[in-house]
Amino acid sequence: MSFVAIDGPGGPDGAAEAREIADHPFGNPSFTGRRWPLADVRLLAPILPSKVIGIGRNYFAHATELGNAVPDEPMVFLKPSTSVIGPGAAIAMPAVSHRVDYEGELAVVIGRPCHRVRAADASGVILGYTCANDVTARDLRAPNAPWLRSKGFDTFCPLGPWIETELDPSDVTVTTTVNGEVRQDGHTADLIFGLGELIEYCSAIMTLLPGDVILTGTPEGVGPLAAGDVVSVAVSGIGDLENPVVAG
Ligand code: MG
Repeated sequence: MSFVAIDGPGGPDGAAEAREIADHPFGNPSFTGRRWPLADVRLLAPILPSKVIGIGRNYFAHATELGNAVPDEPMVFLKPSTSVIGPGAAIAMPAVSHRVDYEGELAVVIGRPCHRVRAADASGVILGYTCANDVTARDLRAPNAPWLRSKGFDTFCPLGPWIETELDPSDVTVTTTVNGEVRQDGHTADLIFGLGELIEYCSAIMTLLPGDVILTGTPEGVGPLAAGDVVSVAVSGIGDLENPVVAG
């Protein structure tokens, strides 16, 4: 396994390429010189975070579709690093749940250790952005139940297909499809708390480390998955994160 940088079309045969990074993708990475056509590379999750911070109810229409109030400050929760999988890996539905939902989201990847970051300075601690599926066992989300149980199962945090470092995230589309049918079609311009506010809020609680991920919340249109489905989260300017669903 290696970190790779992905270059768009323009290689010797016109195809996109993966270039091997010598150590890690933070700062100014150095390269080994080895490269492959992107089509020949199997992509894993682009990062294994020390923590994945989720934000609940951060789009007005999603908060209200589930009958919840719109929060007056970010609703934060954690997903364990063991919930992370990469593109193409299977989401396993746990037998204890009868309602496992997709939640397509824009994810922010932190680029350097930081603590008490002001919103205005937040762009300086961001490595880039990726697509995320905040998979949720909705029926385990009883009013006083910990969010960890409904959000924390193995395979419940698909990330990928890569980290886009050149993106203006202020108004990108977040589109979720199930078996090719569009279920969510949101715009990050509708976020209640923007990325700067989220980083300020989270970094006031805990130190954020390189590779940590903040899931920025899901737009309206959440719904259930079934074994045999293929779910895709596409964020404009990044790419398409596709995962099959299997019975756990
Ligand atoms: Mg979510």
